[in-house]
Amino acid sequence: MAEPVYRRVVVKLSGEYFAGAQSYGIDQPTIDRIAGDLIAAKRLGIEIAVVVGGGNIFRGVEVSARGVSRTTGDTMGMLATVMNCLALAEALERHGQPARTLSALSMPEVCELFTQAAANRYLCEGRIVLLAGGTGNPFFTTDTTAVLRAAEIGADAVLKATNVDGVYSADPKKDASAKRFDRLTHSEALAGGYKVMDATAFALARETSLPIIVFSIAEPGSIGAVLGGAGRATIVAD
Ligand code: UDP
Repeated sequence: MAEPVYRRVVVKLSGEYFAGAQSYGIDQPTIDRIAGDLIAAKRLGIEIAVVVGGGNIFRGVEVSARGVSRTTGDTMGMLATVMNCLALAEALERHGQPARTLSALSMPEVCELFTQAAANRYLCEGRIVLLAGGTGNPFFTTDTTAVLRAAEIGADAVLKATNVDGVYSADPKKDASAKRFDRLTHSEALAGGYKVMDATAFALARETSLPIIVFSIAEPGSIGAVLGGAGRATIVAD
């Protein structure tokens, strides 16, 4: 078998996938499926860290529209990502894969604080490392967290899971004329204003020369397929 192209990656999973077919909360069968996909990808010999969103439980910007301050709303959003990580870590362990949750927010009774050294150590030990609590700061997203953490831990790429098989010029579920890209530069992704990741995340990826691989999580096994070079994806890289 060919050597995998990537040695260490950060996978970004939006909270919305954790809700499965529901619009809110945590759907256990879906988490089990995602855990299985991550384990299969790990067996390719790749070190995997995962940044999980929180949109299935809380998004700061949505509650701030209803009168809660943005910083409080964002803190609630960051706490939601911790809940998702705990659920995923347990599913991974149940399937026999050692995992470890590291949080940007200090909560020693729940999980360890994120440091680059701790993440590095657990990845080298063969664990899947779950990165909770976003960046630890309001006004950021977990997409930006994924790029930031990838740069910090020396990952080779960020795998951004979406509902479609790459970056399109418009939402292909709404616009039949939407064009799909196989490859884009970071600058093209920024200039195009494509909704797949926020501009801060793309700008940081450009600055740190990190490739972003956009793929669909809807297909079971897609994480391993993309990492093995067989899956369909858009590569955003300079
Ligand atoms: N969040 C934050 N700082 C961060 C990351 C996340 O304040 O560094 C908050 C923010 O309120 C965000 C929520 O956590 O809406 C959930 O993250 P995100 O929206 O990125 O989750 P996803 O859309 O991927 O589920």
